[in-house]
Amino acid sequence: MQTLRASKCGLSTAQLPSYILDVIDALTKAGYEAYIVGGGVRDLMLGLNPKDFDAVTNATPSQVKEVFGRRCRIIGRRFELAHVYSGRELVEVATFRAPPKKAVTSAQGMILRDNNWGTIEQDFARRDFSINAMYYQPRKGIVLDFCNAVDDIKHKTLRLLGDPQTRFEEDPVRMLRTLRFAAKLNFNIAPEILDVFTPQLTQLLRDVSPHRLYDESQKLFTMGHLNRVMPMLIEFGIWQQLFADIKPHVTPFVERAAKNTDQRISIGKTINPAFFYAVLLWEQFQERCHFYLHKGVVAAEARAQAGLDVLKRQSTRTIIPRFAETFIREVWEMQTRLLSPKPQQIEALSGHARFRAGFDFLLLREKSGDPTTQGMGEWWDAYQLMSGDQKERAISQYNRQRAKNRRSKTDEVVLTKVHTQELEPLVQEPESRSRRQRKAKQEVQAKVERSVASGSTDGSIGSDHPILKRKRVQRDLSQVIFGPTQ
Ligand code: ATP
Ligand code: MG
Repeated sequence: MQTLRASKCGLSTAQLPSYILDVIDALTKAGYEAYIVGGGVRDLMLGLNPKDFDAVTNATPSQVKEVFGRRCRIIGRRFELAHVYSGRELVEVATFRAPPKKAVTSAQGMILRDNNWGTIEQDFARRDFSINAMYYQPRKGIVLDFCNAVDDIKHKTLRLLGDPQTRFEEDPVRMLRTLRFAAKLNFNIAPEILDVFTPQLTQLLRDVSPHRLYDESQKLFTMGHLNRVMPMLIEFGIWQQLFADIKPHVTPFVERAAKNTDQRISIGKTINPAFFYAVLLWEQFQERCHFYLHKGVVAAEARAQAGLDVLKRQSTRTIIPRFAETFIREVWEMQTRLLSPKPQQIEALSGHARFRAGFDFLLLREKSGDPTTQGMGEWWDAYQLMSGDQKERAISQYNRQRAKNRRSKTDEVVLTKVHTQELEPLVQEPESRSRRQRKAKQEVQAKVERSVASGSTDGSIGSDHPILKRKRVQRDLSQVIFGPTQ
């Protein structure tokens, strides 16, 4: 172990927000040891802006509670922690941890319960990467470095503490963390990690709760280097574990959305991580829509059902919270509305709560070369900047074009008498009610004629029986998994 002078590592209390200093000071005053540890120290040493600061102490969670009283809440079961409110910020205060006892690990070696308090040396050995295991005491102006982590910082190397295979088995999420930190810090992954980091080992992620994997996926999406990490997820076989049914391929749309997300973060704009899920699942959603449309399901129902199916499948890997699922489905639904809006609804649509997200999504599709947006991304882009008069003119022009398209479509059908099994477009207006009724009547008639011909009617259901008029939605559930997700 070496004790480094904080100033030599480029650290000073002036860089620290008062909320973390308050926590360190209160614990020290009560007679406990207290350090800043983890990403905060690492990022400061790298000249980056830390996301937050975590504290670690030799006080147990209940002793921390005694120090902070009502400002403190003890959370977690597997990993008991104290949450301390300091001003408007929340600081995670962990207690030094000893190695886990055998009895609380799963058959695969995964740690299930972990509240065994220990010394700082033991706590150090429990941390994941060397660069995340430096202990900074700001008032004493020292950094405790147990494994020459400063060298790894200098050489931009991501090194796991201990035997990589064992560390991944103990907690498979460390595989995800490896890629996250490598991408975020632009560090090289140490060769001994690369040796064991095989797609086969990523199977261990199957045992991790989909809630935790969702949280981790959010961290990946919001770390500011999403575009860099996406190909890495494929290369290391993590993609298949996180997004089971999404083809492991960074499409131009996904790439554009990833770059856009990173850009927004770099200029301090907020991002909704569910938006990126909407992007990732879009292709799958469309395929599922086609599937239902082919079965003769009306477009709106096909979209609704496809949305449910795709999200249900994804939830076997990462459980997207309900509000985020709703957001995703609304963004998808917006695509239909924005693609062929009814002229009288255009202005109201531009004020809709999901307009912004839906429009951003449409524009990203368009800019990444998706021809099915028919230029509507740019149309809406221009529309938003128009004055009232210009908007009116744009709407009537749009209306004329729409009527013209409809006419030429009808002519085309009449002229060519298409019998082919053409794919229905994903987004289309539902048929008019009279047309649907006419079609349903014809279907019923044909059905009755067919059953009469095959002699299967028992005479009790007449051709105008309501049951024959109900159009049942056929769902193919073979690919949908229901029930417990683990
Ligand atoms: P950031 O907050 O920038 O994403 P971080 O390194 O602070 O990165 P946290 O998830 O906040 O990451 O964790 C804080 C510290 O806790 C880490 O730096 C590491 O020392 C330890 N830690 C977190 N998760 C694990 C894990 N799965 N295994 C071992 N140690 C971990
Ligand atoms: Mg942190």
